[in-house]
Amino acid sequence: MTINEKAYAKLNISLDVGRRREDGYHDMVMIMQTVSLADDIRIDINGSGEISALSNLPFIPCDERNLAVKAARLWFEAAGRTEGAAISLNKRIPVGAGMAGGSTDAAAVLRGLNRAFDSPLSKEELLDLASKTGSDVAFCLCGGTMLAKGKGEVLTRLRDLPDCTVAICKPRFSVSTPELFTKLDTRPGRHHPDTVGILSSLEEGDLRGICRRMYNVFEDVGDRRMKVVAEIKSKLIDAGALGAIMTGTGSAVFGIFSDEADAEEVIAPLRKEYGFATTTRPVGKLL
Ligand code: ATP
Repeated sequence: MTINEKAYAKLNISLDVGRRREDGYHDMVMIMQTVSLADDIRIDINGSGEISALSNLPFIPCDERNLAVKAARLWFEAAGRTEGAAISLNKRIPVGAGMAGGSTDAAAVLRGLNRAFDSPLSKEELLDLASKTGSDVAFCLCGGTMLAKGKGEVLTRLRDLPDCTVAICKPRFSVSTPELFTKLDTRPGRHHPDTVGILSSLEEGDLRGICRRMYNVFEDVGDRRMKVVAEIKSKLIDAGALGAIMTGTGSAVFGIFSDEADAEEVIAPLRKEYGFATTTRPVGKLL
């Protein structure tokens, strides 16, 4: 039996980092959005009793370090099934971009396996497996527009983002997540996003109000690579974006456009200069 599942990318409409906790994690407050840019996941259920993976990108690990494999193992264990699966990942989401590429593959595997076997696990059980797999997996499992707190696993569903076109650009470098957290911890007097303001703009369906307030605290860490991020943001704004920020720990940057043609027009020059650029659209609830 073969199951195909889309693994959609996520963007951060806002990202705030609170204090460092006893367990070493930071308390996060994020507004997250699923977008149509996606990896294609194929799951072939077989009788091997093993979980294997392969991907179109040779540098991605295909063993237990791959979050899709980890999620599959957890799912088979929890569902008490012994069949096994071969997972094929056709990756389109840039790696190390802050778009939850690995987490969303894991979430797609959880949704796909549960569909393949006629839903033996409840939504709550899937969410539990998601949290065990990685911080952003629970959001990727549910999809849509959500407020994420804690490590990112405490989720509240929000009203869908109003219709818009998103232009995403990823420069050729990636940014190390632990390095950014350390830099942020040692930075005094930080700014914070107006999360409450974004929440009420979302409630009112006010795209301009949302875009005006989009903010990611990681852009403030004083890392020299953030100069390139700022440069891309300016180009998006000059092209007509209502707002532009970096997603997650970067290095991808996106702008939100009410005019689709403006968004399409900026893609070719961005791609030429920075390597990766595409347009995408918001996607609603998945589970
Ligand atoms: P996040 O937004 O969650 O911080 P990211 O988008 O910055 O993540 P990923 O694209 O998920 O980063 O990849 C980060 C690392 O995770 C890669 O270097 C890779 O080794 C590992 N990884 C594990 N599983 C996967 C997967 N299925 N796809 C891509 N990378 C994976």
